[in-house]
Amino acid sequence: ALPQIDCPPIQHYCEALEAQQRHRLYLQQALRGAPQRGEMSLLFQPKIALATQQIIGAEALLRWHHPELGHISPADFIPLAEASGDILAIGEWVLEETMQYIVAWRARDLLSDDFHIAVNVAARQLARKDFTERLLAQLAKHDIPERFIALEVTESGLMSDIHNAKAQLSKLSEVNIAVAIDDFGTGYSSLAYIKTLPFSTLKIDRAFVMDLATSEKDRLLARTITQLAHSVGCDVVAEGIETADQAAYLRAMGCEAAQGYFYARPLPAKEFVTWCSEWKPPFSTTDTETVNGS
Ligand code: C2E
Ligand code: MG
Ligand code: MG
Ligand code: MG
Repeated sequence: ALPQIDCPPIQHYCEALEAQQRHRLYLQQALRGAPQRGEMSLLFQPKIALATQQIIGAEALLRWHHPELGHISPADFIPLAEASGDILAIGEWVLEETMQYIVAWRARDLLSDDFHIAVNVAARQLARKDFTERLLAQLAKHDIPERFIALEVTESGLMSDIHNAKAQLSKLSEVNIAVAIDDFGTGYSSLAYIKTLPFSTLKIDRAFVMDLATSEKDRLLARTITQLAHSVGCDVVAEGIETADQAAYLRAMGCEAAQGYFYARPLPAKEFVTWCSEWKPPFSTTDTETVNGS
């Protein structure tokens, strides 16, 4: 007979995996109906034009507060919601909530005509054949002009269903709804696809911004991405700016806008409004003239 092989490491591994699976399943179930139970909210992070230091808009970022587990990161729950399909209901809630803020802010005359709120949209939302039509109907219902809303779709999301994404992006661009490719540089998009996709903005991922001040290679990459975007007629927004140096380098490269803790963390609606009213550029534009970005 074969000897009995006792293998505790594998057993531990399996138990850990099983616990992880159970946790995922638990979260996935808890997610269902979370917006309706008042467990979700939106934060707003300002976007700043690098040349003028003006606020050009904000990104709406979703937060989930679980009644027992507390704050759960979107990086953890968005993939679960995408897998279960609940992202469709959650995504609709995000759009509706955003539009209600836009309506309230417009009523108080807080939004200039060139200000937009960008909403993150999952690939599965975009894959709905009637996505654009529904979005337009929702905007019409709230009497919101299209220019006040923008969308962000991750590079990997776009590439997961390129055919559909292209059709939907074409429809969106026809009705002048700006779409940004989010987390650019972290996915596997082919430049040939990028060329044919009608998007208006490219968001450079934080990974390329982090070491700008210390890495010549990263500066070269960021500049190349910026030039690539400009060559296909797109604006560039950099995410995750944490220092004045990073902002200065990006500005010198011709990157249009920036977002990050250096300017502001994602803020609750009320604080966001206050922040905007108190915003003063952290450095004068002439301070950056000496940085040549190379
Ligand atoms: P994202 O769209 O790329 O958003 C940028 C993330 O970077 C946000 O994380 C933001 O809080 C964080 N961030 C901003 N500035 C800085 C900075 O200076 N330093 C650092 N370290 N981080 C910064 P968050 O809010 O945790 O969201 C993570 C991701 O979850 C988002 O990445 C987006 O892909 C997804 N997400 C968030 N809200 C939604 C939503 O409503 N719908 C969908 N489908 N996805 C969402
Ligand atoms: Mg985003
Ligand atoms: Mg991003
Ligand atoms: Mg990112």
